[in-house]
Amino acid sequence: MAEWERIGRILPALPPRAATAVPDSRSSFPDPEQACPRCHGRGVVLLGDRAVRCSCMQERALIRRQEAAGLTAALQRQTFARFDLRYYEPDFLETARRSLLAAQEFVRECVEGKARRGLMFTGPVGSGKTFLASAIANALVEKGHDVFFVVVPELLEAIRNSFGRSESEAGGEVEERARTSGVLVLDDLGAHNYTDWTRNTLYSLLNYRVNHELPTVITTNLSLEQLEYYLGERTTSRILEHCRVYRLRVGQDIRRVKASRAANAPPEERDS
Ligand SMILES: [Zn+2]
Repeated sequence: MAEWERIGRILPALPPRAATAVPDSRSSFPDPEQACPRCHGRGVVLLGDRAVRCSCMQERALIRRQEAAGLTAALQRQTFARFDLRYYEPDFLETARRSLLAAQEFVRECVEGKARRGLMFTGPVGSGKTFLASAIANALVEKGHDVFFVVVPELLEAIRNSFGRSESEAGGEVEERARTSGVLVLDDLGAHNYTDWTRNTLYSLLNYRVNHELPTVITTNLSLEQLEYYLGERTTSRILEHCRVYRLRVGQDIRRVKASRAANAPPEERDS
């Protein structure tokens, strides 16, 4: 505990690496119609008398891939470079480290085309589960992989709304993306008022992906017993067959620690 407090005291004094480590490509082009200052929207720049592709084309392509992957601006900031093990108390550091290594190993397997199984991160609110899942998605999108990040209640809502409509409509598209994307992130598979229909929908989705060796990354704050209670035995056993499970533990909600630190740190302490 004393060690954790000590870390807490030195953290605000560290330089804010986040501001420089990841350039926010969105902020340089808030409006897709806005012309790039280098090529003025033409997509090519002149190098002597030679026309070459402007770097903004790549930046725009990445933004399109991030949007297609369901990665919001907030999720895009959750990268491996920003996953900070110092938030974990000594007792929980080892499990956090193992989870981080598993996430990075999973990305490597995907890049090498060897990933057959997915991952499941369990743990309480604010323990870094979604952070690791987004970091995986961000790393894969950057490498040009087909990834789809979706929050489970929103997925079920979209599928429910599409029921009885044509496949081309939004919900049907979401379901199809979830089913077939190279890597699917199912965020927040939590306590929910599951009906037979939502249980069957999730089973059918996971079953399809397992059968096609399409890896899925799941985050949940439920224990395995609770998962079985909410989703049923066959879905839970499909998940366990398909995902390596990592439990993240934390003494206090990391998001709260970050928020209160940002609000309470006096400026002189931050600058020192
Ligand atoms: Zn440009």
